[in-house]
Formats: sequence, C-alpha cells, structure tokens
Amino acid sequence: MLVATAPTAEAASPASAPPPEAVLAEIRTIAGTDLATWARAIDEGAYPATLMHRLGDVGAFRLHVNEGHAVGDAIEGMALVSEHCVSTGFMAWCQNTLAWYLINSENAAARTRYLNAAANGQLLGGTALSNPMKSFFGIETLKLKGTRVAGGYKVKGILPWVSNLGADHVFGAIFAVEGRDTPVMALIDCADPAVTLKPCERFLAMDGTGTYGVQVRDLFVPDEMVLADDAMPFVKKMRAGFILLQAGMAVGLIRDCIALMREVEAPLGHVNRFLEVQPSQMADSLAGIEAEVAALAATPFDTSPAYWRRVVEARLLAGEVSVQAAHNAMLHCGARGYVAAHRCQRRLREAYFVAIVTPATKQLRLMLDEMPA
Ligand SMILES: Cc1cc2nc3c(=O)[nH]c(=O)nc-3n(C[C@H](O)[C@H](O)[C@H](O)COP(=O)(O)OP(=O)(O)OC[C@H]3O[C@@H](n4cnc5c(N)ncnc54)[C@H](O)[C@@H]3O)c2cc1C
Repeated sequence: MLVATAPTAEAASPASAPPPEAVLAEIRTIAGTDLATWARAIDEGAYPATLMHRLGDVGAFRLHVNEGHAVGDAIEGMALVSEHCVSTGFMAWCQNTLAWYLINSENAAARTRYLNAAANGQLLGGTALSNPMKSFFGIETLKLKGTRVAGGYKVKGILPWVSNLGADHVFGAIFAVEGRDTPVMALIDCADPAVTLKPCERFLAMDGTGTYGVQVRDLFVPDEMVLADDAMPFVKKMRAGFILLQAGMAVGLIRDCIALMREVEAPLGHVNRFLEVQPSQMADSLAGIEAEVAALAATPFDTSPAYWRRVVEARLLAGEVSVQAAHNAMLHCGARGYVAAHRCQRRLREAYFVAIVTPATKQLRLMLDEMPA
C-alpha cells in the first residue's frame, strides 16, 4: 500500500492547497486531452491508474478538504471528468468518497495515516457501501461480519462489486459485529493476503473502473483503520455528501448529451425538430439540477429531514434525467451515434449506471416512500 511519507491531517488543510478555480481548470485540461483520448479504451476495460494519479496530483480529490467541507467544487470536478467519461467520473467519486470518509472520521490515527494520501490520490481506493446502504433500508443483510479481537477486529465475507480497486488500494466498508447491535465502519487494505480481488463478469459499461468481487477471509482490521466504531451515526453524518457527490457523474453526462444533440443540429435539425425532446429542454432540466445540487452542496451536514428529502429527490432526478438525456441524444444522433466508435452509444450505457448504482432509482423511491411527507 502506497502512503505518503508521514502525512498529517493538518497537511490536508486548505492553507497549502491551490484555489478551487485553478484545480478545476487543471481538471478541465486533463479531461479534454488525455481522458478524451483514453475514454474508449477505459470503456473497453483499461484501468487508468496514471490518469487517476494525475487527477490526484492537480488536486481533484481534495476539493472537499476545505473549511466547512462544502462539496460543490468536488462535484464540479467530477462533472468535468464525466463530460468525457462516466467510468472515470465514477472512479473519481470512489476516490472522493474515500477521502470524504476520512474527512468525517473522528479517529485521529486513521485521518493522520490516510487522509492526505487519499486526498492527493497517492493512495487509490473506493467504497463498499452499496450493501450496507441497502441493508439499512431492509433490502438485504450485511455481507461482512466481524469479531472483536485485541487491537481491532477479525472480518470475513464476500462483496460482489467494489470499484477503483487494485493490489495496493484500500476501501471503506461496514461490517456487523458478533454480539453487538451496531456495525463498525473501517478501511480494508487490498494488499493484505486475507483479501482477494476476483475479476467480475463483463458489464454493459464501466469495465475500466477496477471493479472486483472482494473475498475477505479472517482479515485483521487494526483499530487504526476503524473509521467509526458505531457506523450508524457516522453514516448519518456523511450520507448527504456521499449522495450529492454522485451528482457529478450525472451533470457531466447530461452536459455531453446536450452537446451531442447540438452537434447534429446542422446536418439533421430539419428532421430532429420533430423529436419530442429538444436540447433546450434538456438544458433547462440540467440548469434546475445544477442549481439545486449547488444549494445542497453548500451545507452537507444539515441534519433537518427537509434537507435530507431534497438530497434524495435531487439524486433521483439526476439519475432519471441522465437516462432521459442519453436516450434523447441517441434519437438525435441516429445511426451515426449507433456505431461502436461513437461516444453517443457509450453515453447511453453509462447513463444506466448513474441510475442503478446505489442508491439506485428503486431504492431512492423506497426511501422517499418511507419519509414523512
Ligand atoms: C460496474 C459496477 C460497479 C460497482 N461498484 C460498486 C462499488 O464501488 N461499491 C459498492 O458498494 N457497490 C458497487 N456496485 C454495486 C451497485 O452500487 C449496486 O449495489 C448493484 O448494482 C446492485 O444494485 P441493485 O439496486 O440492482 O440491487 P438489487 O436489485 O436490490 O439486488 C442485487 C443483489 O442481488 C445479488 N446479485 C444480483 N446479480 C448478481 C450477480 N450477477 N452477481 C452477484 N450478485 C448478484 C447481489 O446480492 C446484489 O446485492 C457496482 C455495481 C456495478 C454494476
């Protein structure tokens, strides 16, 4: 596992960081050049480790390491990436979420050892919270189980899909503990011999995201890697940021779908004007999502039920409009968008991921159904 030399939580403070506008300008350049060139190879299964480190070098994963931890700049950073490639936008979310866990952890030892390395992208990794997020709403039970032992926990179980992983990466996970009602959240180190990464079957898209099935066999998780001894209040504190950060994928994807519709206006506008959805309508929907997400991103620790409902509604809308935008981009591009080399059909495949990654459209609807009106 690669960890920066003697990183400190203090070193991750905003004082040493370049201004967000400068970071966003660097991300825009990387996304529009190297990422645009690599997007097809990533779609076909190449994991872009070098690119992830370059994004980390320019500060793409520390935009939420600011005073108050507003997440708007981090979302915009991921939108710039997702305009070209949702796979990389998702990996950026995995990385930003890993840093988000450390920002929120009260375990000083974990923060000191891992926050700076994750926020700088030197230590790559992700999050395995789909299963726990579903378990909290009764959709499935926790797949990882732990036992308290001296100095930490012994953990075992199997997770079907965890992304942005590699041999020296880490990821955040939640496990049930024998004899206790409250689960624990901790980092898991892929380099440990007790952890095995199993390649997944081919997906519809997202094959370059370093997604693996993870087998954990009696892994010792030291107290230093525990993010929260009681995962429930921790999840409650960081859940809005976790969900809002996913909006970056949607915003970037929708922007490009609108661009795709406009690119074919000159040759096909005379017939495309008969289509039900026009780019200006998609642009209005996008503007609404961007405004709402920006407002919510300013206060990710708001604990009011009204705020939480808005977060869940915004996430639901982002997934639904992603699919709608990609569908309409296909109708506007027609056969030229249907050829394998064209990014339009990739955008359609990527859009479904935004709608099915946890919390998926169906789970978001379940959550809204269970909330007070
Ligand atoms: C490309 C990709 C990357 C992902 N990356 C992550 C990640 O980084 N972290 C993370 O926590 N989650 C990740 N997921 C999981 C994702 O967030 C969802 O939880 C998952 O797609 C299932 O959601 P669902 O709403 O369809 O689940 P549901 O429909 O409620 O049920 C799905 C459940 O059925 C079982 N199941 C169904 N099909 C299969 C199958 N083919 N193999 C194994 N089990 C199966 C599993 O228990 C699974 O949890 C990833 C999924 C994909 C496709």
